[in-house]
Amino acid sequence: MTLWQIIINISEPPKRKKRKDINTLEDVVRLLHESKRILVLTGAGVSVSCGIPDFRSRDGIYARLAVDFPDLPDPQAMFDIEYFRRDPRPFFKFAKEIYPGQFQPSPCHKFISMMDKQKKLLRNYTQNIDTLEQVAGVQRIIQCHGSFATASCLVCKHKVDCEAVREDIFNQVVPHCPRCPDIPLAIMKPDIVFFGENLPEMFHRAMKQDKDEVDLLIVIGSSLKVRPVALIPNSIPHEVPQVLINREQLPHLNFDVELLGDCDVIVNELCHRLGGDFEQLCFNTLRLTETTDKPPRLPEQPPSEALPASSDAAQEEQKQHSTDSVTKPSEETHSPNVTDTAGNNVTPPEPCPNAQCPSEETAEPSELPAEDVPKEEAAEVKSHTSNLEFRRRCWMSRINRSPISKRLETGQYLFQAPNHYIFHGRRHNTTHFIQRGRVGAQTDNTPEKTQSTVHL
Ligand SMILES: [Zn+2]
Repeated sequence: MTLWQIIINISEPPKRKKRKDINTLEDVVRLLHESKRILVLTGAGVSVSCGIPDFRSRDGIYARLAVDFPDLPDPQAMFDIEYFRRDPRPFFKFAKEIYPGQFQPSPCHKFISMMDKQKKLLRNYTQNIDTLEQVAGVQRIIQCHGSFATASCLVCKHKVDCEAVREDIFNQVVPHCPRCPDIPLAIMKPDIVFFGENLPEMFHRAMKQDKDEVDLLIVIGSSLKVRPVALIPNSIPHEVPQVLINREQLPHLNFDVELLGDCDVIVNELCHRLGGDFEQLCFNTLRLTETTDKPPRLPEQPPSEALPASSDAAQEEQKQHSTDSVTKPSEETHSPNVTDTAGNNVTPPEPCPNAQCPSEETAEPSELPAEDVPKEEAAEVKSHTSNLEFRRRCWMSRINRSPISKRLETGQYLFQAPNHYIFHGRRHNTTHFIQRGRVGAQTDNTPEKTQSTVHL
C-alpha cells in the first residue's frame, strides 16, 4: 500500500487555503499559458452537452428501467454489485444507452485534449465512464471509475475488449464468459467500478506520482462529492494554484478562482483568450464581456406574462433537484447563496407563504435568503390584499428570485471580486455529500473515507 493510499484511507487531509495572489480570469489564462503539468479533474459536467443521459435523473434512464424492473430500489442499484449478481439486466439496459461509439466529445474534452497535445497536461482524472476523453484524443487519462473500454468475467476475470460484448449488449443479451460456459454467474461485466468495488490500481499509482509534480489543478464539471477523487484538491501541495469550472460552487473546497456556469461556455471564452491552437476549438465566435454590476431584477409584469418564465425556472429547478437528489430530500442542506442577492438595492419582493402560492414548492429555497421574508409584511399581505393581488405578488416574488445567471445579458458574465465569476448556466449548489459504499450501508452525513463508485 502506498503512502497516498494510506492518506486517503485513514486521514482527512487539511483543507487548503486559497492563494490571495490568484483571483481573476486573467490569472487563469496566464496560468494556462505558463503551466506545464496541469492536473484536470472532470465529472459529469463535461459530458452533459454530449447527450450522455444522467442515470440519476428522475425522468431519465432510471424512470424507464423502474417500469421494467420494479424491484430496482434506486438508480444507484444499477451499479450495486450484489444487485448485479442477482439481476444484471437493468445494468445492461443502461449500458446499451451509453455504450461507447454513440456520442461525440464536448468542447471541454477537446480543451483537455489540446492541453495534452501541447504537453501541458500532467493527467486528466475523469470520474466519467463514457470514454469520450479517448474519442477526443486525450492520452494522459485516468478513468477513476473504470470504463466500458473492457469487460471482465465475474468468475475467472477473463478480460475482453468492449467490441467483444457490444453485439450482446445491443441485442440485450447478458454477455457470458467464453471460458466459463457452464457457470451461470460467469457474466462479462464492463470494467466500470461498482459500489463496493475498489478503484483501479492505476488511479492510486498515478496519483502517488502526480501529486508532487502538478503545477496547476483545474476541476471541470464535477461537484467532487465522491471520494477518494474528492480528496485530491486537499492532497496536493497547497501552494499549487486551483481553478474551478463548474455550474455550482463547492463549499467544501477552496479554489483560487471560481468560474461558475455552463462549462462549455466558460471553456469557449478561455480558448478565445488563450489564442493560438486553442482558438480553433471555439464553437462560438462571440467573445464575452465582463460586467461587475449585478443585472437588475426584472421589471414587474402581470401574472399572465410571468407564467412562462416561472414555469421554465421551476422546470429547471425540478430537473436540478432530480439530478442532484441522490440522498433523501430531507437530508439535503441548501446553502443560501449570499453573493447572488446580497447588496441588491432593489426593494425585495413581497413574500409568498408556501401554503397559498401556486407551485411555490418548486421554487429554489437557496435563492431566497431569510431576510427577504419580513414576517410583518407577510401578515399584511395576507390580511390586506385581494387574492388576485396576492397571487400576482407571488409570481413577482418568484420571478425576482430568478438567479443572476438567468438575468445576465447574452454574451456577458459577472465578476464579483475577488475571485468569483458567474456565467450563463450557473446553478445553486446543494452541500450534501453523496453517500457511498454498499447501498443503504450509510445513514449519517459523514463522507466516506474511501470510495468506490460510478459517477456519471
Ligand atoms: Zn470466466
